[in-house]
Amino acid sequence: MGYIYTTSFGKVEERLLLGTAGNIKEVFGIEVRISSVPFPPRLGFDPSREQYHAGTLLGYLSTLDFPDLIKLLALVEFDLYEKGLNFVFGEAQLGGRNAVVSVFRLRTENERLFFERTFKEVNHELGHTFGLEHCPDPECVMSFSNSLMEVDRKGRFFCRSCREKLSSALKSYS
Ligand SMILES: [Zn+2]
Ligand SMILES: [Zn+2]
Repeated sequence: MGYIYTTSFGKVEERLLLGTAGNIKEVFGIEVRISSVPFPPRLGFDPSREQYHAGTLLGYLSTLDFPDLIKLLALVEFDLYEKGLNFVFGEAQLGGRNAVVSVFRLRTENERLFFERTFKEVNHELGHTFGLEHCPDPECVMSFSNSLMEVDRKGRFFCRSCREKLSSALKSYS
């Protein structure tokens, strides 16, 4: 089995990266390596929106490679958007390799809550890379979140049905 690599663009706390690595290991059962990658200044930045285009960041992640890489996740400090949406918490390639999560809208004074929100969005986007789609169970981490209220409502774990799909997807990596 290989590794899920995580990296960060912009100011993302080391403590959060370490916590995220622990969360991924716990939930996906895959070892995590934290790696630093240069970020091309303003890549995907739209000055009129003052946001970064998530798809462009995923495209950049696709150009990177690491030894025994299974998935690549970037945590970014800046706000992301996708065409037709005011913002996105994150984006991933469905059944693909790369995922990006923004902590911009997840921040709050309560560090525990901030980290928990980040873990949920990370697990959600990584779930997409393992082929999982959105889940109708509002407590499942694969339920779609369009607001912080929805992020806070769901848990960071997969419902039984999503967990089964994930387990069969994970088999091809062991
Ligand atoms: Zn999603
Ligand atoms: Zn589910």
